[in-house]
Amino acid sequence: MYGLKTEAAFDSAHFLADYYGKCENLHGHRWRVVVYLQQEELQKESTMRDMVLDFGVFKKAVRDLAEELDHTFLVEDGTLQQATIVALESEGFSLTVLPFRTTAENLARYFGERLIEQGLPVSQVDMYETPNNCAIWMRG
Ligand SMILES: [Zn+2]
Repeated sequence: MYGLKTEAAFDSAHFLADYYGKCENLHGHRWRVVVYLQQEELQKESTMRDMVLDFGVFKKAVRDLAEELDHTFLVEDGTLQQATIVALESEGFSLTVLPFRTTAENLARYFGERLIEQGLPVSQVDMYETPNNCAIWMRG
């Protein structure tokens, strides 16, 4: 079994609806995402022979996804009034509306699933919302 690991970071605001604590309020994090690939055998042909995947391809895929979310406000669909969304967008703010609660656990799974869709053999994603707190998604 072989593995690769790379990481990226993005700055995004969020809040947790129906949460009784500080995270209910709008706040930001520097999210750090670490992605692990796992593959039984190395590739056999052409430029990626004896590699799990070219690091350039791997890093770009993770970085592109992080850039989609960078400097946006992550909003769970249905947790803000439509008028609020319209008002924020009319002020020029960038929102990323997601179909799940914007916990670190769900963001880790989101990265894992999006990268698997692109054909990457993702085995695990670590999503740090602070330097000490990290949620982990593992491919089931
Ligand atoms: Zn938070």
